[in-house]
Amino acid sequence: MARFAKRVLSIESSPTVRISELVTEMKARGEKVVSLAIGEPDFPTPAHIVEAAKKALDDGYTKYTPAPGIKELREAIAEKSQKENKIPAKPENVIVAPTKHTLFLTCMALLDRGDEALIPDPGWVSYGPMVTLAGAKPVPVRAADEDGFVPSAETVAAAITPRTRLLMLNSPSNPGGSVYSRDAMRALADLAADRDLIVVSDEIYEKILYDGEHVSPASLDGMFDRTVTVHGFSKTYAMTGWRLGWLVAPTPLFKEIVKVQEHTITCATAFAQKAGVAALRGPTAPLDAMVAEFRARRDLVMKEVAKIDRLSTDRPSGAFYVFPKVDVRGDSATLCERILKEASVAVTPGSAFGVAGEGHIRISYAASRETITEGVRRIGEVLAKLG
Ligand code: PMP
Ligand code: GLU
Repeated sequence: MARFAKRVLSIESSPTVRISELVTEMKARGEKVVSLAIGEPDFPTPAHIVEAAKKALDDGYTKYTPAPGIKELREAIAEKSQKENKIPAKPENVIVAPTKHTLFLTCMALLDRGDEALIPDPGWVSYGPMVTLAGAKPVPVRAADEDGFVPSAETVAAAITPRTRLLMLNSPSNPGGSVYSRDAMRALADLAADRDLIVVSDEIYEKILYDGEHVSPASLDGMFDRTVTVHGFSKTYAMTGWRLGWLVAPTPLFKEIVKVQEHTITCATAFAQKAGVAALRGPTAPLDAMVAEFRARRDLVMKEVAKIDRLSTDRPSGAFYVFPKVDVRGDSATLCERILKEASVAVTPGSAFGVAGEGHIRISYAASRETITEGVRRIGEVLAKLG
């Protein structure tokens, strides 16, 4: 009999990935399921990006690249980081890898057994398991409705112990759709500096922003040297299947993190990297059109959710999720199973995002307007039947 490592036995499979696969299987069986579960833009990748990848294949970009990525993509990322995020990044600070992998690399390079990493609760489903896989302990920091889904410096301070090494931040956030204000980010950054923590800032939803400003902690005074910024192409450019993203780290951190890249995936896919250059350097009109459509969908989903007495939520400011509180007895996983069974609508239970997510459901509005209207209406029907 195979024996398994404790680190893998102590994590569960990814709820978001599992629900998405379930929806795919149901559709393949001919079942009509309305999916508001997965956080994946329903748009095609913009044509100029696809063309760049085709050309790259024709030009022979089918071999290994340097481990941290091709020069022109690292240059484009450094330029973007400097211009748009005010992060003093050089191309030598950039490692290209799928966004999920950049987080994994960071955890592997920075965490030891017994170390603790603070993660927002509710927060994206994979932060905790990545910390666990690196042998350390994820420590949830409550950042729920009453905090507008933004971790407060006070709550974070209360969770710090002598073993705390990392503070993970995510603005705009999944699942809350919150955007951290400059003041909130400054307070968290000051705390990290004061307590000598490394900040890992997941900015994958940067461009899916409707209200407020995007603040990169690495741009704040003195923070570049203690911040790993992770980002990617999946959400902004509808490129989930390309598996392409990046991290920006100060030189001492870069040097250790890149070793993990060299010994795991070596480098990101060569022709996908060429497409990444086209995405960053190409026209922004397709991106602007997608964000405008997400904004309209956010307004639509808010209008539809407001019709349902048992759902309550503030208006999210970014990403493409709404995370309403559900006024019913019982747990969110059972409720979501029921919604899927009785109404053929897939949504993600709030408990998937942490203890503080219980009592909520996550509705992804990265779906057509018709899907949103129909899906939320059907959720309302199920909720109306419950005592
Ligand atoms: N961070 C957050 C907050 C996410 O929602 C996701 C979801 N995909 C990722 C990171 C990982 O992105 P990717 O699929 O591009 O690796
Ligand atoms: N991040 C997306 C989500 O939350 C995609 C699935 C995943 O990687 O978790 O639905």
